[in-house]
Amino acid sequence: MKLESYAVCPMCKMNDKVAKVAVIHEAEASELAQRLKPPDPPLPLTRDNSAVLILVTGIGILILGICLFVGFSTGETAAPAVANKIPPAIVSALKFGSVPSVFGIGFIVLGYFLRKKSQERIRIEQAELTIECQRWQKARSRWEKLYYCERDDIVFVPGEMTSASVANMNTYLYQEIG
Ligand SMILES: [Zn+2]
Repeated sequence: MKLESYAVCPMCKMNDKVAKVAVIHEAEASELAQRLKPPDPPLPLTRDNSAVLILVTGIGILILGICLFVGFSTGETAAPAVANKIPPAIVSALKFGSVPSVFGIGFIVLGYFLRKKSQERIRIEQAELTIECQRWQKARSRWEKLYYCERDDIVFVPGEMTSASVANMNTYLYQEIG
């Protein structure tokens, strides 16, 4: 394999046992090739829809409450109103309609605040992920420049005068980025 003259191992000062890490990783099926794999990209954000679910459930329960209220207050059971007394139909309507309505509103309020909180959390996580992706891209492009010396079992970026064991490759790729 023909090598650039600068791909000299910082430990043995030779390049006869040196090969490009990306080439080893792609060309070989050895255990070494596996250990020389590029750094894994950051995981994407996981979606949490529980707040929306609570919000939708709240709307559903509120609609049920309103339907019960309307149904009981206008239904056939509606008896003629007695003076100075709340009509029985309205009493039934309030009795059956108010509980789901209150629960529905409670769920909607809860869902609304949980949704706001989760949107805030997603914003923070998104910003962190963006930074993490940038660091990974730099580490990944450092990996492209990486060489491996079989004699010393180390990896190095030519010209940096530094090296690392294969086990510490990821740390080496990330630590120089700052
Ligand atoms: Zn060497």
